[in-house]
Amino acid sequence: MHLWFLRRCCWLLTLIATAVAQTRLPPEPPATAALVRYEFMAPHMGTLFRIVLFAPTASAAETAAAAAFARVAELNRIMSDYDANSEVMQLRRQPAGIAVAVSAELFDLLQRSQQLAEKSGGAFDVTLGPVVRLWREARRTRQLPTAAERAAAQRASGYTKLRLNPAARTITLLAPGMQLDFGGIAKGYAADEALAVLARLGLAHAMVAASGDLALGDAPPGKLGWKVEIEPFGHPSREPWIIVAANVGISTSGDTEQFADIGGVRYSHIVDPATALGLTKPVAVTVIAQQATLSDGLATACSVLAIGAREKLAGCLGDSARAIVLRQDQCGMIQRETFGSNPPGLHTP
Ligand code: AMP
Ligand code: MG
Repeated sequence: MHLWFLRRCCWLLTLIATAVAQTRLPPEPPATAALVRYEFMAPHMGTLFRIVLFAPTASAAETAAAAAFARVAELNRIMSDYDANSEVMQLRRQPAGIAVAVSAELFDLLQRSQQLAEKSGGAFDVTLGPVVRLWREARRTRQLPTAAERAAAQRASGYTKLRLNPAARTITLLAPGMQLDFGGIAKGYAADEALAVLARLGLAHAMVAASGDLALGDAPPGKLGWKVEIEPFGHPSREPWIIVAANVGISTSGDTEQFADIGGVRYSHIVDPATALGLTKPVAVTVIAQQATLSDGLATACSVLAIGAREKLAGCLGDSARAIVLRQDQCGMIQRETFGSNPPGLHTP
């Protein structure tokens, strides 16, 4: 059985998630009850969400998948910056300096995002909304923003200008014009939440994939884990990196299909907070962490940090996340490096 997740980078990373028996790994556990594999797909959050689960009956599988997709749709109504009525868009209409009550989900994701912003020294920052918006416009018009425009967007950004009050579940955006952007973490969060819905309905042998973000639940029955294969496109001679894992999140970020050529320079859709411009060094990062929320945010953070700050990148991962970083050296060759440590549930041959 095979699931293919194609993600076009300056190299193409191919992720295959499937149940597999690996030599050199511990023996597979015995198969349990007669569970059948089902697969579902639905468009959400501007991408295709895919669910693979093992269930005793088709109706149990369908009911659970529908509930999981409904949860993703619910989260989109909170986080989306394409929906003018989403909670995030409504926040933009609030004046600066006022504490605003937010939903439990938004507060939860903001807390996690702020932790990641601190760990990454601001490389990952959901308050970069004004910079992301400016950069989106630049990619559309193929015109670089002026220095004054970038400086204005930077003034209206910065995780230190966001206050969270857990007791009241309120947030305060301190600078005028601040905007939140969850593009670097929302899909991982939604995949985790969808997986949690399936587990609550008794279907824990499941996985949810949202483009480059995977939330893996319990391994398929009788298997050690889901197999994920990471293959540098254009370099078929290189051995793909094979991961066998359960109960982890795996995310890939970097110079994806969302890039722009402006004045002969290739810019990524991921912005460097220091310049308020898209990244220009080709990089692709895959992160394996305990949950997809974390792997998603970390993969975006590591893409920014991979520009040069190796110690910062390693420090950002901590001791329970692993990153595979692919980048081009000065001779144009692709170099692969790994950072961090394996989270529990990750088996590498
Ligand atoms: P991903 O593909 O998960 O790396 O997320 C990329 C998206 O995250 C972009 O399209 C923006 O919406 C947002 N983003 C870009 N740069 C950053 C950054 N430095 N920190 C947080 N979010 C970012
Ligand atoms: Mg991300």
